[in-house]
Parts: sequence; C-alpha cells; structure tokens
Amino acid sequence: MKFGGTSVEDAAAIERTAGIVAGRVARGLQPVVIVSAMSKVTDQLLACAAAASAARGDREPALEIASRLRVRHLDTAAQLVAGPALESLHEDINRAFDSLDELVRGIAILGELTPRTSDLIVSYGERLSSVIVTAAFLQRGIEAAHVDAREVILTDNHFGKATPDEPAIERALSLEVLPLLQAGKVPVMGGFIGSHNEVTTTLGRGGSDYTGALVGGGLHAGAIEIWTDVNGIMTTDPRICPDALRVRTISFEEAAELAYFGAKVLHPATILPAVQKNIPVWVLNSRNPGNEGTVITAMPPSCASPFKSIAVKKRLTIIDIVASRMLLAHGFLKLVFDVFDKHHCAIDMVSTSEVSISVTVDSREALPAISADLSKLADVKFEGNKALICLVGEDIRGQSGIAGEVFSAVSHVNVRMISQGASEINMSFMVNEEEAEEAVRALHRRFFSQPDPAVFDLEARAVATPV
Ligand code: ADP
Ligand code: ASP
Ligand code: MG
Repeated sequence: MKFGGTSVEDAAAIERTAGIVAGRVARGLQPVVIVSAMSKVTDQLLACAAAASAARGDREPALEIASRLRVRHLDTAAQLVAGPALESLHEDINRAFDSLDELVRGIAILGELTPRTSDLIVSYGERLSSVIVTAAFLQRGIEAAHVDAREVILTDNHFGKATPDEPAIERALSLEVLPLLQAGKVPVMGGFIGSHNEVTTTLGRGGSDYTGALVGGGLHAGAIEIWTDVNGIMTTDPRICPDALRVRTISFEEAAELAYFGAKVLHPATILPAVQKNIPVWVLNSRNPGNEGTVITAMPPSCASPFKSIAVKKRLTIIDIVASRMLLAHGFLKLVFDVFDKHHCAIDMVSTSEVSISVTVDSREALPAISADLSKLADVKFEGNKALICLVGEDIRGQSGIAGEVFSAVSHVNVRMISQGASEINMSFMVNEEEAEEAVRALHRRFFSQPDPAVFDLEARAVATPV
C-alpha cells in the first residue's frame, strides 16, 4: 500500500490512512506501507537546498524554510501521538532537523549543491513522514514497524534518478521486511529514497510509486495499491476536465503509456515490476476509500470507445535537425541519437523526412550541451514551450477513421508532430503549450460524451454536470 503526499499531508490525512490500513489488517491481509513525504515537502526541501547554495553569505532564507518544516512536522506529530511516544517522536524529529540545519549551513559555506547532497536533503521528507506515520499507527493499535528504505531500496549512484538493483532489493526485502511480516507486524517505510554503498539516493520525482511497485514485486504481493487524491485513473487529468470519468479497468500497457506520456497519477516505472510478476495494481482514493478505484491488469475487458484516457505532458522542446546532405544516409541517425545518449536525455517522439529529423525532449538542463554537439552534424533549431498530447487505448487497433476523428476534434489547434503506431495503442501529437488544455478538453468532449458504462464510472459525471 503506497500512500502519496496528500494521503499523509496532515494529522487528519494520516488518521484516514491509519483507518484504511487497519481495515486491511482486519480482513486478515498483511500490508506493507510505503509513504511519500507530506505534501509539498519535497518541493520545499528542494527550495531550501537551492536557497542555501545561492546564499552568498545569507543563509537565513534557507534556514527559515527548514524551520517552517520543523514546526509542521512537530505539530502533526503532536496531533497524532501522546505521552512518552510523543516525546521520543519529537526527539527524532528535532534530531533530523538539527542535522538538516547543519547540512544547510555547509551548503551555504560551499555555495555549491551537488546532486548527491540534493538527494540527501530531499530524503528528509520521506524519512520524517515514515517515522511519524509509524508512531501514529502504533498509537492506533496497528503493530507497525519502521524500516529505513535506504537499507532496502538499493540503487546505482545516478543521484537524482537512481536505477534500482532489483535482485539486491529482493534479498534486502527478505532480510529486513519479510521477518516483520512473519511476526505479524506492518512494515512502514518511506518511498522515493534508496542508497548506493550507504550513500542516500532518490528514484526521481514521483518515485514513491516506484518504491511501492519494487516492494510489491519483490515480495510477490497479492496486489499493489497506489493511494492518492483522486478516485483512480481518470479519462484525463481532472484538473483540466472536471468532468473526467474514472476508468474502472485498464491494461498494464495502457497505464504504462499514460504514465510515460504525462499522467501524473502514476510514476512511469510503476508498471514494470507488476507486469513481471503479474500483480494487479490498484489506484485508489484515500479521501474516498469506499470507491472501488481503477485496477490495472493484464486482461481488461474490451471497450466500445477507442480510447481509455488522454495524457498531456508539458514543458517539452522540439528539436529540428536539418542536414544539408541527405539525412537518412546510413549512419546519420545513429550519430544523432548518440548525442542524446551521451547527455542522458530521453526522447519522447521522433519524426523524419528526407533531410530533417525532429525529436522532442523534456530535459532543459542538457539542451545547451546537446545543441553544441548536434551543431557539429547539422543545422539545429529549438522550439520550446510545447506539449505532447497522447490518447491511449487498446481498442484503437483495427478501428478505421480514428485519426480523422481526433484531428477534426482539434482542427482549431495548430498541430506539430504526429505519431501513431509505435505501440499500436497510442496516438500522440505536439501542440503549443498554451493550447494544450483546450485541445484536451475538445478531445475529451469528442471521445467521452457517450462512455461505455462497463469501462467507465458515470457517477462522477452525474456530480460534475447536473442534468
Ligand atoms: P500522489 O501525491 O498521491 O502521488 P500525484 O499528485 O502524484 O499524487 O498524482 C495524483 C494527481 O494526478 C491527481 O490529483 C490528478 O490531478 C493528476 N492526474 C493527471 N492525470 C490523471 C489521470 N489520467 N487520472 C487521474 N489523475 C490524474
Ligand atoms: N516525495 C517525492 C516527490 O514529491 C516522491 C513522491 O511523492 O512520489 O516527488
Ligand atoms: Mg505521485
């Protein structure tokens, strides 16, 4: 059971989370609990680290952020735990923040923030939330036991976005977590963080979902539950379309495409460990635990509408690479892709013509270096502030005329690159960022006005648009 930031954002949320976990235990299940940092804490820790490294003698702004975070954690603890347990919890929290303050002072002196130090700073979010949640569970009669995620989630040393070592994690799980389960305890650990040779690493933003999947996969769990602040995977981001519908069942492939192309509800790496072991993944709402959520499985039912959901990924850049000689001459694509590989930059979409190749990327930091290298091969043009819109559904396969329907729905929008077929279950294209939400709304109206009740939950719509 993985609980996201909003599911542990304050004492009331942690109470709800405890109730949900207690319910699972009462049903005779043996949960392992993974928690994110309290909501917004990761952003604030990153801001704190940035302020410290930019200090130029003034480290106060950074220390102030740390001090506000200290108060929030101490207050939350005080609302959840009482007596000697609270005393020892407050000691733990204060000790953690004392060492965070030390770190901030160190960074301010050096005026430099390495990815390694940044990972250490953000790790406090999950380390603290998991300790508070453990104490709150114990106070409520759940036999919780805290596990330091850094002893279990063993990774390489790619700070900021480390790659987990799955066989090593399985071994660590059987040493550190399995015995607790066998003793009837509920292990509680922070998501997102790990370690390489005892040095703290992180799995990248949103990585607690990934921790949930690694632990669920490594323990051969019966199910992986991702508890968040919406009723499940919706037909699009409900912040863009308030009348988005819950998708009841979706395939591993569809969910993976959606996550990769921007649906924040799931971290893109969450699906793989589940697929490998064929473990169903549930996306559930901790504010509405009675709702049945979305289940991601290998065998979802077929659906009358071609698409299950629309994702949008913003802040992308299109790079047009124009060769003076014939581009597709043998070996040229390799040279181009080698440049992206060298700078660890993932490409989202590619299209080619005789003399040019266009790619889209979401990394900004690497762009100057990539540009310098590509310029040695060809003329290069960058266009920022683009968004990728991706429609996903297994049932696109074999249906004719879908592309026509998609592009007539967005005929008022300037469409740049188009791609269909790479996976057979997605259709994607690029637009200007400021037109992206309108395009999503137009597509949502076009494809989800008469949804198939076997696949989509129509109740949400009844609430959003009263008849
Ligand atoms: P958590 O902190 O629990 O990990 P996130 O904020 O990472 O939660 O993810 C949940 C959010 O994802 C939702 O509040 C919603 O705005 C957004 N989201 C984007 N696309 C979708 C989608 N297709 N279905 C559901 N939620 C989505
Ligand atoms: N706390 C981390 C983040 O905000 C990881 C997560 O919540 O999934 O990115
Ligand atoms: Mg998340």
